[in-house]
Amino acid sequence: MQLIYKCPKCDAPNIEAISADTFRLSCAGQDWSREISTVDIEDDRPKRCLCCGTEDLWRQKDFPQALGLLFVVTGAGLSTIAWAYVEPNWALGILLVFAAIDMALYAVMRDVLVCYRCSARHRKANLHDDHPRFNLELNERYRQEEIRLAEAGKPS
Ligand SMILES: [Zn+2]
Ligand SMILES: [Zn+2]
Repeated sequence: MQLIYKCPKCDAPNIEAISADTFRLSCAGQDWSREISTVDIEDDRPKRCLCCGTEDLWRQKDFPQALGLLFVVTGAGLSTIAWAYVEPNWALGILLVFAAIDMALYAVMRDVLVCYRCSARHRKANLHDDHPRFNLELNERYRQEEIRLAEAGKPS
């Protein structure tokens, strides 16, 4: 499994390979580290966030959403040009091809587990298909918590 996280101390982005014998996460800036215990990981799958310990993680396709959107927009643009200059069959064909590629990319991408609290991304983990997807209510709870912590002036 691979973990992408932001250092809670210095905000530096870190990528760390996590295996069965990784016992400690440490920021490249040497200012923060956290122990990983055997209860955190089960069968190459995080049971809670390895960065902050939160048990709520949501499943997402490991595909940058902006890239997917750009792709669809490009397809739609080309299709519009074909519609204006060539002929409707071309326009429809282009749209279908782009939509098919987009779907294929989406299908082969593996899921990641994202932490509600610290947004750490757990990649290449051995995931179950029934892992919960994004939950707006839960996200709102963490967002409120973050606001409260910021107002109290305490670093989270
Ligand atoms: Zn750091
Ligand atoms: Zn976290």
